[in-house]
Amino acid sequence: MLLTSDIGGYSHLVRALVDSLTHALVGALVWAFVENSALLNDWKKWLNCFFCAVLAASVDSDHFLAAGSLNLENALHLERRPPFHNTSIIPVIVLLCWIFRHYKPYLNYFPLMFLTSWLSHHLRDANHRGLWLAPFGHTSTLPFYLYVFLIVLLAFFTRLWYCHLTLTKNINLTKVLDII
Ligand SMILES: [Zn+2]
Repeated sequence: MLLTSDIGGYSHLVRALVDSLTHALVGALVWAFVENSALLNDWKKWLNCFFCAVLAASVDSDHFLAAGSLNLENALHLERRPPFHNTSIIPVIVLLCWIFRHYKPYLNYFPLMFLTSWLSHHLRDANHRGLWLAPFGHTSTLPFYLYVFLIVLLAFFTRLWYCHLTLTKNINLTKVLDII
């Protein structure tokens, strides 16, 4: 019995680790596409990918927050989905970060990083459980091909937004240099 429980606990741990690493990998890959060829010239861009990986995996920390303990069994057997898995909070947080970045220029790309990492996590989870759009309810489970399509769409959309931000930043910098 003890052995069965140990093996069950071990397999839960392995599954949780593989799941978190996959979330991290998807988050990093989406951001790598956003950075694109800039990755070849600047090691800091790789740090951004790593940061997105951590952000994407961090969504599942709410399992432990909701369980009120670090026990994996408790965290995996919650009665309802924990708060960070509510997709409705993503646009709200992106908007708040977007406003905040005007006061902290070094956070220029943070709203995009947050959007790609958290939404990629939510879309992957939706392949099993649908999207949770509180207070409106749940969507049905997303088929695998739709999940992949939405991830690709997210990567392209964010890449366009990123290019626009970079262009705007460079234009503003040129104006400052002209004034000097
Ligand atoms: Zn999750």
